[in-house]
Amino acid sequence: MQFATFAQYLAKIEATAKRNEITVILAELFNKLEPDEIEPTCWLLLGRILPPYEGLEFQFAEKMVIRAVARAFDSTPEKVQKQYKESGDLAKTAQEIRDKSIEVRKSITDIYAVLTAIARESGEGSQERKLAKVVELLQELDSLSVRYIVRIILTKLRLGFSDMTILDALSWAKVGDKSERKLLEDTYQLKFDIGKLAKAYLVHGKNGLEHFDIELGIPIQPALCQRLKTPVEMIEKMKKVFAESKYDGTRVQIHIQRLEIRDKKLEKWTVRTFTRSMEESSAQFPELEKAVQALGKHDLILDCEAVGFDPKTNKLLPFQETIQRKRKHDVAEFSIKVPLRFFIFDVLYKDGKSLVRLPLSERKEILHKLPMDGKTLTESKFIITDSPDELRSYHKKQLDLGLEGAVIKQYDSVYQPGRRGWSWVKFKEEETSEAKLSDTIDAVVMGYWYGKGKRNKFGVGAFLIGVAGKDEKILTLTKVGTGLSDDQWRELKERCGKVVATNKPANYHVNKMLAPDVWVDPEIVVEVAGDELTKSPNHTAGVALRFPRLVRFRDDKKVEQITTQKELAQIS
Ligand code: ATP
Repeated sequence: MQFATFAQYLAKIEATAKRNEITVILAELFNKLEPDEIEPTCWLLLGRILPPYEGLEFQFAEKMVIRAVARAFDSTPEKVQKQYKESGDLAKTAQEIRDKSIEVRKSITDIYAVLTAIARESGEGSQERKLAKVVELLQELDSLSVRYIVRIILTKLRLGFSDMTILDALSWAKVGDKSERKLLEDTYQLKFDIGKLAKAYLVHGKNGLEHFDIELGIPIQPALCQRLKTPVEMIEKMKKVFAESKYDGTRVQIHIQRLEIRDKKLEKWTVRTFTRSMEESSAQFPELEKAVQALGKHDLILDCEAVGFDPKTNKLLPFQETIQRKRKHDVAEFSIKVPLRFFIFDVLYKDGKSLVRLPLSERKEILHKLPMDGKTLTESKFIITDSPDELRSYHKKQLDLGLEGAVIKQYDSVYQPGRRGWSWVKFKEEETSEAKLSDTIDAVVMGYWYGKGKRNKFGVGAFLIGVAGKDEKILTLTKVGTGLSDDQWRELKERCGKVVATNKPANYHVNKMLAPDVWVDPEIVVEVAGDELTKSPNHTAGVALRFPRLVRFRDDKKVEQITTQKELAQIS
């Protein structure tokens, strides 16, 4: 397919906010693709160059794009900047500057190859080389394509749908309705690569999915917890359970591949890790390369929570200390200052075999047999019980130990990716406790109001947050105007500044009277606590969170993982 034709599809999608229409347009597009075009098209539709687990970002600043547009189309950066200021949209400006009469014939795969080559440029002088290549690329595109390529380069394509809509569209393309969506989703969760999935399914149909299984190096969607309030309810639903500490660290999925080079008598371990959002995080954990060797001669996928500890006292450290590893620099220094302990609670794959369909009790046995150094890698401790009283006292003990609570897992459950079923339940607060809600809420920042009075200096005085509704809608939950420290207000403003939206994003459903001064794209996830969820005619979530307080920014979560409107019922 010509890239220009693909750009026309993007324009059609951009023109509608209706998910069903988007699904049909995507299905039509999928049916016109050659097999080799399917993978690149999926990534481009999501505004990406490669899957998130490859960790390759475009990294090309706005001012570089301005330079590229100027150089490509015989203008000057000043002129482009001026026009951009007027339009508020750099992609649109670039499109306008590009001569409309020019037609070009480049295929999706041609353009995709150029984009990947640009993204892979690294090292000294790479910015200049990237610039030169972007200039060349822009000159090979018609004006509509320029618009979308600029968005992709700026990582701002945002067509208002996610991979979930692609799953719907795949089913639609193949069978004319959404009946195979569930099957697609189940398969996708085990090997989180939408491009590969789309290709397997569009080329071979359902049969293609049968062979689409866990693969070392490609993340599995992590299992998450449901919420129940009391241990009685938990035992009623789950019968016999494993109860484990709920560590307050960061989720890590570790993929370990062992290579043996026999004639050289060499052994080599390749370790890759993925976050809760299935992004590659390997560079954050240099200590793993050595630590995994203790596990013996195996290929493995392990599921765990990593928590910082004080090397002098051996005590676990708070979340804020653990996540310092997220910094791109000084990782080596931090790995000495704040070493991590990986509490391994599950094994999902071993030596070529997927274990996710085995009962948890069997997976725990396999895990238990793996030797660990007990310092960097350690098996997470648990009790097995079917007694609500025992569960209650275990939970209390965890809180007394300064942990977040307990995770309760059904004794013989299979590993269920995502937040489904009743395999995993979190036990944070009991109904009788002081806290009025059983859990905090993860919401997305939708926009903000300028600050008045004292807040004037921060440039933000309140912000609007939302939860996930049906069909990828974002529904408002509350306006947060108190409970932030001065530093948090400053941080919020800085974060918002990076994702300001020119218009209200299409999937935001907001009552007019609640429209903020500035809209922001759905990128910043915050964890908020509150006193109560009350019915609300003003908030589109149908309920409002009373006395909201910011707990922390949740960089480990993506907008696709925020609390859903349905889940609010479990929390209240
Ligand atoms: P929260 O916001 O409550 O920390 P969450 O929304 O990130 O949790 P949940 O599904 O509520 O995710 O809880 C599961 C998370 O708890 C896991 O992603 C993991 O990071 C953490 N965790 C800590 N200890 C355990 C454990 N023993 N077993 C499983 N998950 C654990």
